[in-house]
Amino acid sequence: MDITLVQGDITEQRVDAVVNAANSSLMGGGGVDGAIHRRGGPEILEDCRKLRASHYGKGLPTGQAVATTAGRLPARWVIHTVGPVHSASEDRSQLLASCYVESLRVADELGARSVAFPAISTGIYGWPMDDAARIALDAVRQAHTSVEDVRFVLFDRAAYDVFESRI
Ligand code: ADP
Repeated sequence: MDITLVQGDITEQRVDAVVNAANSSLMGGGGVDGAIHRRGGPEILEDCRKLRASHYGKGLPTGQAVATTAGRLPARWVIHTVGPVHSASEDRSQLLASCYVESLRVADELGARSVAFPAISTGIYGWPMDDAARIALDAVRQAHTSVEDVRFVLFDRAAYDVFESRI
């Protein structure tokens, strides 16, 4: 597996699947989630609604992942995963690692070979970038997957530099 880092916008990535740092409702939100729905168009939300109705009436649990169409994005699928909110009192790193592992498992089911990830949980969910980068890189490196290209898409220079120092 090749792991590459890019500084940029995840909605512009030409890959088989882009991963969304979704929230449990699957009904959209801010950050990556907002950008994906804005750029991808209403088809993605339509798919999310269907998934809620058929499988996730109580919401998608933290650490799990599920795929929809990518709508108008230059990707084939969006894989939605729900990161944990960072906690100072409780170690939730297994849940964060699970987001990466489960997203790659869903990618395998789809036959996706290239996957772009944002730095899950490092925005609204408050995870420190350095710790999140360590967990993300370890999880992806240890995953058993047929995905050949994993791309971490870091929104700003600071996040890119943190990932680069750990790769
Ligand atoms: P979470 O709720 O999991 O914390 P966010 O979407 O708030 O998710 O943020 C996750 C990370 O994604 C943050 O580091 C944020 O700066 C970054 N980010 C926000 N928008 C984009 C985008 N369009 N492309 C890539 N990364 C983004």
